[in-house]
Amino acid sequence: MELTVLGCSGSYGSPAAGAACSGYLVREGDTAIWIDCGNGSFVNLQRQIDPADLTAVVITHTHPDHCVDLYGLHVMYRYGLERTGFPVFAPAGTEEAMGALASWGDTFAWLAIDPGDPAPVGDLRLAFSRTDHPPPTYAVELTNAADRRMIYTSDTGPNWSVDAFAPGADVVLSEASYRHDDRRSPIHLSGTQAGAAARAAGAERLVLTHLWPEVDPAVVVGEGSEAFGARATLAAVDLVVPI
Ligand SMILES: [Zn+2]
Repeated sequence: MELTVLGCSGSYGSPAAGAACSGYLVREGDTAIWIDCGNGSFVNLQRQIDPADLTAVVITHTHPDHCVDLYGLHVMYRYGLERTGFPVFAPAGTEEAMGALASWGDTFAWLAIDPGDPAPVGDLRLAFSRTDHPPPTYAVELTNAADRRMIYTSDTGPNWSVDAFAPGADVVLSEASYRHDDRRSPIHLSGTQAGAAARAAGAERLVLTHLWPEVDPAVVVGEGSEAFGARATLAAVDLVVPI
């Protein structure tokens, strides 16, 4: 299994973070899942893979920096590739909420995320957990046939943790929006909080993402690494993480 970062800027695009907001491509064999369609991530996806080869999309929540590039995929699929029934996992109500700006037709098969119901997608198994973040937001766990596992926290405050899933994940991809002494909102984590949670959950490797554009990445990664007890990796566009 392999993770490729398509976008990692927190909340709005930043030149320092390669411009694009949250987007991640996870591949296992012929299975390719695009998780979060943040602004700018679709361009970076197209540099990695022919979009026609995607297996499914996951939208973790309807904040624009996690979903708006789904509109671009829709236009390509509906009017270019004339595809139908493509699976899109998203919180219940996403089709209607985003539908104010799109006429979806039958391009997508909308699948409401259900945290109690793990979903097989190609060669991977997906499980979800509701995080501490408005609107309804879901962390994603991806497991392959060899039980290698990645957990993506999506956005969350400190009242949810990766320990909602089984301990010992091979990779935890965690949001880390702020410096610990400058937490501007309770709906996100600091690097310290992300590192402590990953350590408590026995993660093998920690990748930090969704840093607020104005914070110094070196400070957040330093705090995250100290709390994790090992060097954390800073997400960057085109970073590839084997899992
Ligand atoms: Zn959010």
